[in-house]
Amino acid sequence: DLVAVAVLAMGTQGIPRSSGLPDDLFVHDGQITKQPVRALALSTLAPRPGERLWDIGAGSGSISVEWALCGGAATAVEAREDRAANIRKNAAAFGLAHRIGVIAGTAPEALAALEPPDAVFIGGGLDRAMFDAIWSRLSLGARLVAHSVTLETEALLGELHQRHGGELMRVEIAYAAPLGRYRSWEAARPVVQWSAVR
Ligand code: SAH
Repeated sequence: DLVAVAVLAMGTQGIPRSSGLPDDLFVHDGQITKQPVRALALSTLAPRPGERLWDIGAGSGSISVEWALCGGAATAVEAREDRAANIRKNAAAFGLAHRIGVIAGTAPEALAALEPPDAVFIGGGLDRAMFDAIWSRLSLGARLVAHSVTLETEALLGELHQRHGGELMRVEIAYAAPLGRYRSWEAARPVVQWSAVR
């Protein structure tokens, strides 16, 4: 039964209180913000109870789930129907279906009817048109956090940082992995995070 899945996966000890839960706790197809990078995303998003998040390009919904675990509500916008289905499964498995709305659709068009959020996470599909559409909808004081793994989006984030300020951060993570009889560092793709307050 789905509702118990997430809790059972953690054994009898329950779910940790910190953000950056194991990827295995989420139904996903490989497109998921990985545990340590997700922890950095949540740290910058800075969720507070009662706040609302737009999670754009939500993938598995892992960001929405961790936001809602902190007491807020999230709207997950995901272009692919199969991934939107995963988001619904994950929200249900964590007992958070009542606090995570799922929109199977393309941002920014899919955002038209939504109330302005306290924070936005952009994990996919960012381009200048999407940024302009979202930025103009934000109230003063709202937080925006965007992640990129491509050079093209990274270039856009560099420009946006110059124009709007905020913080630009690059994260490089490597895991120890076997190399013959030895071990070596296997680097993950660098992720660039830009965060700003409207
Ligand atoms: N943060 C997610 C991973 C995001 S992967 C997680 O933790 O699971 C990026 C996602 O953005 C992909 O699923 C892709 O389908 C979606 N996407 C790309 N452009 C989009 C757009 N314009 N609107 C909505 N979703 C989009």
